[in-house]
Amino acid sequence: MFIDLRSDTVTKPSMAMKEAMFLAEVGDDVFGDDPTVLALEEKAANLFGKEAALFCPSGTMTNQLAIRVHTWPGSEVICDKYSHIYLYEGGGVALNSFSSLKLLDGDRGRLNAQQVRDAINNPEDIHQPTTSLISLENTMNKGGGCFYQLSDIQEIRSVCDEKKLPLHLDGARLFNALVETNDSPLVHGQLFDSISICLSKGLGCPVGSLLLGKKDFIKKARRFRKVMGGGWRQAGFLAAAGIYALDNNIERLKEDHARAKQIGKILEGLPFVENIYPIDTNIAIFQLPETILASDFVAKMKEQNIGCVVFGKHLVRFVTHLDFTDIHLEEFEKNIRKTV
Ligand SMILES: *Cc1c(COP(=O)(O)O)cnc(C)c1O
Repeated sequence: MFIDLRSDTVTKPSMAMKEAMFLAEVGDDVFGDDPTVLALEEKAANLFGKEAALFCPSGTMTNQLAIRVHTWPGSEVICDKYSHIYLYEGGGVALNSFSSLKLLDGDRGRLNAQQVRDAINNPEDIHQPTTSLISLENTMNKGGGCFYQLSDIQEIRSVCDEKKLPLHLDGARLFNALVETNDSPLVHGQLFDSISICLSKGLGCPVGSLLLGKKDFIKKARRFRKVMGGGWRQAGFLAAAGIYALDNNIERLKEDHARAKQIGKILEGLPFVENIYPIDTNIAIFQLPETILASDFVAKMKEQNIGCVVFGKHLVRFVTHLDFTDIHLEEFEKNIRKTV
């Protein structure tokens, strides 16, 4: 049995999800008449109280489209130095939007209002790039899956209102935050101009992300999606998985969080574990001693049938997900004890 904790993207659709996909009514989404895509977009938009949504193949695409629509060439986007849009999107902000990023040093990837306020450039100063957008990430992947308190987001929103700047949320794992805080998606919908959510992470879909925003914003994003080659046809088969996931797979994310904490407990007793990051949701990161490279450790773990990823020279990341059950957790504990 291979225990795959490399990411929450490794899940495979359950039988019930596949049934929903198999039975989906489809059309041609480029013509705008795939009923299942339309139903998913409407469902997601309503969930967050947004006017419209756009179904896309990946979270990278939804983030990049949002940035493309919010910004203009030569402008600057403010985000944390740990942001996915900076670290893991292939330099897309420069390539797609001809904009620069101003990287801030947040608390495990989370920004506060004062930092944001201080980072906004004076639009009258022609030396400086004009700030066009603030982008937050929740939960914060590189920060170990930590999440924002609502009041911190509200304070950042106030700065955005005052400075008349849009606020984007990379919410690839937003539902992981929401099941912990019990905050309403509607409140988040009000705080952000645009939100990207992933269906293919903890929610267990094979493919898909959604971008949410105002009607005219989504209309522009739809045009850029087409330009990027992201216009798709009978995508309703994938959208059906998304509808199933929103109906069935949100509340259960708490189980993933509980198992991530149990992984933390198991790690505590092991000789090669130097330090464990706080485990807030479904991500567990730990530090190896200086003498062990994460790449060597990950290779050794693979021999013990455990999948994990290098997250720094001496950092290793595990991510729990809906295909990681208590049986896998037991097996994980047995196998990791053999890795010395
Ligand atoms: C996974 C992820 C994305 C999107 O990744 P894709 O692989 O392009 O779907 C965006 N932001 C964060 C924080 C992520 O973890």
